[in-house]
Amino acid sequence: MAEEKNYHMNSEEFREQGKMLIDWIADYYEQVEKYPVLSQVKPGDIRNQLPTTPPTTGESFDKMMKDVEQIIMPGITHWQSPNFYAYFPSNTSAPSILGEILSSGLGVQGMLWATSPACTELESHVLDWLVDMMNLPSHFKTTEKGGGVIQDTASNAALCAILAAREQKTNFETNKTGINQNLTAYISTQTHSSVEKGMKVAGLGTDNLRKIEVDENMAMIPSKLEAQVTQDLEDGFVPFFVCATIGTTSSNAVDPVKAIGEICEKHELWLHVDAAMSGTAALLPEKKNYFEGLELAQSYSFNPHKWMFTNFDCDCFYVSDKSTLINTLSILPEYLKNEATEKGAVIDYRDWHVQLGRRFRALKLWFVIRHYGLEGLQYHIREHIRLGGLFAKWVAESENFELMEAPRFNLVLFRHNKGNEFNKKLLDNINQRGKIYLTHTILNGTFWLRMSIGQTQTRENHIEKAWEIIQNTSQVIDELAS
Ligand code: PLP
Repeated sequence: MAEEKNYHMNSEEFREQGKMLIDWIADYYEQVEKYPVLSQVKPGDIRNQLPTTPPTTGESFDKMMKDVEQIIMPGITHWQSPNFYAYFPSNTSAPSILGEILSSGLGVQGMLWATSPACTELESHVLDWLVDMMNLPSHFKTTEKGGGVIQDTASNAALCAILAAREQKTNFETNKTGINQNLTAYISTQTHSSVEKGMKVAGLGTDNLRKIEVDENMAMIPSKLEAQVTQDLEDGFVPFFVCATIGTTSSNAVDPVKAIGEICEKHELWLHVDAAMSGTAALLPEKKNYFEGLELAQSYSFNPHKWMFTNFDCDCFYVSDKSTLINTLSILPEYLKNEATEKGAVIDYRDWHVQLGRRFRALKLWFVIRHYGLEGLQYHIREHIRLGGLFAKWVAESENFELMEAPRFNLVLFRHNKGNEFNKKLLDNINQRGKIYLTHTILNGTFWLRMSIGQTQTRENHIEKAWEIIQNTSQVIDELAS
C-alpha cells in the first residue's frame, strides 16, 4: 500500500499563522500612512519579481509573507489610508474583516436555502433591517411583496434590473425567444457606465440607450425624459427602463427621483435607482429629501462596500416585487431540486442574480451593523459629511481655488482658478508625491478635482493636511511656470 501523505496546513500551524496574520493586518492599519497612497510601481514591476514557474514543492507561510512585504506591498494603492480621497471610497472596518474571515472559514456556498439555511435567512433579515434603518419603502422587505439580496456589485444589480425590466415588458418572451431590438432604456448623461454595459450584456444594444440631458446641477431633466419617451413611442420603439441616480459618480448629483418615477408610472417603465455610494446617507434622517420618490422604484441598489465600513464586495439590491426578478432569473435543473425549494417556502437566492454560487456575505454586514449600531454608523457618516463641508468652506474662502457647488454629501469638487492644464498638472504632482490621492472629472469641458471623503480613519487633521498639500503643490507649480 502506498504511504499516505498529507500536504495540508495542520491546525496548529493554521492557528499560529492566523494569529500572526491578524497582527499583521492590525499593524498595517496602524502604519498605513507610512506608504505612498498611490502605488508608485510601473507596469510589469510586480510580475518581473515573481518566479516564472510555480513551486513544485510547498513553501512556508513565512516565506509567502516575506514576499507579500517585499513584492506585493509596493504594488498596493492604499485604499484604506485615511489620505485616500480618490474615486469613491471602498472602506472597511475590523468587524467587517472578521466577518469576511468567518465567511471564509465556514466556506459556505449558499446558492439554495437548503445548501446553508443560515446564509439565506441572515441575508434576508439583515437586508430587511436596513430597510428600517434607512427608512426605505417597506415593500422592499422580503416579508412583503419585494425583497433584498446581496449582489457583488452595483453593476450586476443594474444588469439584473435591466433583465427583469426587459422580461416584465415582454411578458417573459425575450428570455425564451432571444434578443429584442426594439426596447429602449433611459439614463442621464451622468449615469454610471455600468448601465450602458448592462445594455450590452443584456443584448439590447447601446444604440437603444438614450442619454437624457442634465440641468446645471448635473441632474436629469424630467421634461427631456418625457419628450424622449414620447418620441420613441411615436417612432415604434418600446421604452422599458429608466435609471435614476442618487449621487452620481462625477459630482454626486441627485436626479429628481419622484418626477422621474411619475413619468415611469405613466408609461409603465421600470425605474431602477442607483445610489451606489450615497445610498448610505439614507441612514441620516436629515438627508431624507434626497431619497424622495423611492417608493416609485421597482428596484434600488446601494453599496455598503463603498461607504458603510463593509469590505468589498457587498451591494444591497432591492426589488418591489420579487416574483418578477425570480421569474426572470430562475432555472431549476434536476440536480438542484430539493424539498424546501419545491414547497416554495424558502428563498433560493441563486434566482436573484446571474451566477449560481454565492458567498456568505451577510456575515460581514451583520457584524458591521451589530458592532456600530445605527448610532455609530450615523456618527461616522455625519462626520465624513461634516469634513466635506469644512473642506468646501476652506476652498470657497481661498483666493486661488473655486468650489463647483456646496457638497450634498461627502464629495467636494474644486479647482485652481488657473484653468484645465494647470489643474491636470496639479493633480499629477499631488498624486506623485504620494501623501494624498485625489482623482478628477470633467464637466462641460471643465476639469475638476474630486475630494471624496469616506475612509474609515479619516479625521479633521487629515483633511487639514490634504488642504495644505494641495495649496503648497499649487504654489510650487505656479513658481516653476513663472
Ligand atoms: N453606480 C455608481 C453611481 C457608481 O459610482 C459606481 C462606482 O463607483 C457604480 C455604480 C459601480 O459600482 P460597482 O463597482 O459596485 O459595480
